[in-house]
Amino acid sequence: MGYVQRVIEECEAKFPHQVYFLQALKEIFESLKPEIDRNPSYEKNAILERLVVPERSIAFRVPWIDDEGRARVNQGYRIEFNSALGPYKGGLRFHPSVNEDVIKFLGFEQILKNSLTTLNMGGGKGGSDFDPKGKSENEIMRFCQSFMSELYRHIGDRTDVPAGDIGVGGREVGYMFGQYKRLSNRFDGVLTGKGLKWGGSLVRKEATGYGSVYFAQAMLEARGESLEGKICCVSGSGNVAIYTIEKLYALGAKPVTASDSRGMIYDAEGIDLALLKEIKENRRESLQAYAQEKKSAIYTPVSEYPQGRNQVWSIPCFAAFPSATQNELNLADAQELLKNGCQCVSEGANMPCTLEATNLFVDSKICYGPAKAANAGGVATSGLEMAQNASMSIWSFEEVDAKLLKIMRGIFAHAQETAKEFGQEQNLVLGANIAGFRKVAMAMIEQGVV
Ligand code: NDP
Repeated sequence: MGYVQRVIEECEAKFPHQVYFLQALKEIFESLKPEIDRNPSYEKNAILERLVVPERSIAFRVPWIDDEGRARVNQGYRIEFNSALGPYKGGLRFHPSVNEDVIKFLGFEQILKNSLTTLNMGGGKGGSDFDPKGKSENEIMRFCQSFMSELYRHIGDRTDVPAGDIGVGGREVGYMFGQYKRLSNRFDGVLTGKGLKWGGSLVRKEATGYGSVYFAQAMLEARGESLEGKICCVSGSGNVAIYTIEKLYALGAKPVTASDSRGMIYDAEGIDLALLKEIKENRRESLQAYAQEKKSAIYTPVSEYPQGRNQVWSIPCFAAFPSATQNELNLADAQELLKNGCQCVSEGANMPCTLEATNLFVDSKICYGPAKAANAGGVATSGLEMAQNASMSIWSFEEVDAKLLKIMRGIFAHAQETAKEFGQEQNLVLGANIAGFRKVAMAMIEQGVV
């Protein structure tokens, strides 16, 4: 049995219930095979066995008091996965589905993603099963403060620098930063995604969505194509989806869908971005409100999705931008997208496509940007925020945006070149995984068995 297969099987035996982690691991390891087969030093140095075990996993209790005066408890996590390339870096997710498995898959992906950005960042991820939905402003603040009351002792601007993810935006980062400062008596760049007046970077809020569109643009340009005038389908309506839609408009495309956990909207006139921002960023309401206010939009609730399939992917489009959550696009969805002529998929969310859908996209040779490459713009701009904090400087919107564009184009070029080395120029899953892995593995070998 080959080295890669042996480690996959060992992980399956050791973590049989960690289905997301195993899914991410298989996708990555399968595509590393040709690189691993060429280099016996990886096995000699037990790189894969070391890579799959986090350097440190922290699980902790998060007690807080709700508005009725009742004590509540949630589970908190921070997984400091790999620091070969720099301080642990990766977001915090607050969502009821969060468990060790989800945080492990996200942290594992993050190692290679951060490597691809070319910035010095290791991989980590954290979060809680706390559900921010329906909570008052005060409850959110009390929860964030309690979460940070434990987390603060494990993080630092040169140790571990968390950021946002699902359910954690500027508001939550603000409350956590306030508590960190109070407990540590330090004002430093320990979190990214901070407010613009107190250490945040311009473009950080927009970065993941903009980056995913820049990546799609780079993939299409390489084939003499563009997004201009093209119909696009976007899922989600949070941070990543909103700024994907904004950049699509800037490049002359027409995004016609958005979704949330309760349903989706199809607006053939094109999504009204100002209305979407008002409903989601300010009023924090369901997308149903969009269809009530914009008559050209059709709203379909999740309960009416045929066979439970995400309706976003049934709308014919040139390019698709899955930007909500993991496994939101399955094999049947991928088949339907291809049947309807979809030419490009750029993953804004982490692991939004099932393994079968990913394999179909790769085999079909359309432009397919895997998450760790296509959505790396967020963490890359977090890296730029860290650089500004460390040098006490503030860069303009145009400066950060230009750096983001350059990084995204660089990631595409690096992934494509690497794929080419293996005779599979269009397979960016293989290219991104191998390009990200090589750098981490080399650093681990050079730093010894630690
Ligand atoms: P947000 O919390 O801002 O938005 C998430 C969106 O996805 C919301 O519209 C939410 O609906 C929807 N959603 C969440 N869970 C589900 C679910 N189980 N089923 C259907 N819809 C769901 O998060 P982000 O936009 O920040 O993150 C979206 C994705 O992008 C995640 O996979 C995240 O890991 C990834 N990502 C984010 C980065 C960032 O910088 N923020 C960086 C890189 C990747 P509702 O409003 O109803 O909850």
